[in-house]
Amino acid sequence: MASVLVVEDQAENRDLMAYLLRAFGHDVTTAGNGAEGLEEARRARPDLMVIDIQMPVMDGLELVAALKVDPALAPVPAVGVTAFAMVGDRDRILAAGFDGYISKPIDAMTFVGELEAFLATDDRKSRE
Ligand code: MN
Repeated sequence: MASVLVVEDQAENRDLMAYLLRAFGHDVTTAGNGAEGLEEARRARPDLMVIDIQMPVMDGLELVAALKVDPALAPVPAVGVTAFAMVGDRDRILAAGFDGYISKPIDAMTFVGELEAFLATDDRKSRE
């Protein structure tokens, strides 16, 4: 079981991601934009962060940039979630500091497994 922070401005998507993660036994906290997400990340110290790219106030690219300069939060895997389909977005997302990304719409059958892969990678690194 891991603690996961979900940062997403659309309530329907946020609720779906939180529901799926909880169904697999994970602890979930949520935030509705990047600024709230940064605050919640500092408070909750999650094991993994799932971050929408397009959000008001502070978007996902700005949020991950802020997370990756915070020594306490930089090691926490940050997975982007985006509907962007344009060529080059993958590079832009990874260049911004994300550890990986998942495309929208969320596939309920594979979503949690895809996220857990980032936790497994992190575990391996910490045991080395
Ligand atoms: Mn959004």
